[in-house]
Amino acid sequence: MELQFSGQTRVLTVSNQKGGVGKTTSAVNIASALASFGAKVLVIDLDPQGNASTALGVPHNAETQSIYDVLIDDVPLADVVQQSPESENLLCAPSTIHLAGAEIELVSQVAREHRLRRSVDQYLADHVVDFVIIDCPPSLGLLTINAFTAASEVFIPIQCEYYALEGLSQLLGSIQMIQKHLNPDLHLSTILLTMYDGRTRLAQQVADEVRNHFPGQVLNAVIPRSVRVSEAPSFGQTVIAYDGSSAGAIAYREAAVEIASQKTQSKEK
Ligand code: ADP
Ligand code: MG
Repeated sequence: MELQFSGQTRVLTVSNQKGGVGKTTSAVNIASALASFGAKVLVIDLDPQGNASTALGVPHNAETQSIYDVLIDDVPLADVVQQSPESENLLCAPSTIHLAGAEIELVSQVAREHRLRRSVDQYLADHVVDFVIIDCPPSLGLLTINAFTAASEVFIPIQCEYYALEGLSQLLGSIQMIQKHLNPDLHLSTILLTMYDGRTRLAQQVADEVRNHFPGQVLNAVIPRSVRVSEAPSFGQTVIAYDGSSAGAIAYREAAVEIASQKTQSKEK
């Protein structure tokens, strides 16, 4: 399937200050699905864990030029971007373990909240990209603030489990703070329900509750809990490439189609 893309770049940040809710899995699989539909997609791995880089099959050992060098040493983003072996449409700015120190090193930097945005804007001035997808660490520190400042859309994966909504109001509060002080364009555009087990009443209840709270943002597609999704990264692949006919891959492609058809205020470049 090929979709049409507007030529305007959408910058999404995948955020949730909880760990293990499917941020990275969603970032790389949505990116891979969009790339398979013909979009040019750049994933920025902003988590020192480097899981997105791993899943996209992109080297990210300690010597690799990475998003750390972009944020701290003003290396141009174009110098660290690598192509994923999955598709020529799929690019990744990898993270390395050095990024763990960036949270503290950023504190003393000039324009510390805007460093990622400036690098992304510079990159987009001479590269055609339809989507920039930023994979955030599970915290609301300076790395995540840089992502919020660089993006216009927030994408929140929610794991359909007890406590799913706990912490969400804190995240929404942070988004409001960023809107007010750093980036008036920022808005919550998309919520994706992940690791859904339809056999449990709890998962259904959580899904209903999230849909009631955010009727305009929750995608119809729901990502099932699936072993294929969780084993794909150990092969350095997304589930789209690893097992494209699995339920997880199908659900991520459906989610990507919905995202591609969203009417959102794209950021003017
Ligand atoms: P986060 O980035 O929010 O910390 P991850 O995307 O790394 O979360 O997911 C946490 C764990 O759950 C990983 O081991 C991942 O492989 C697994 N996982 C994510 N989505 C699914 C799914 N739909 N089915 C099964 N396992 C999943
Ligand atoms: Mg992650």
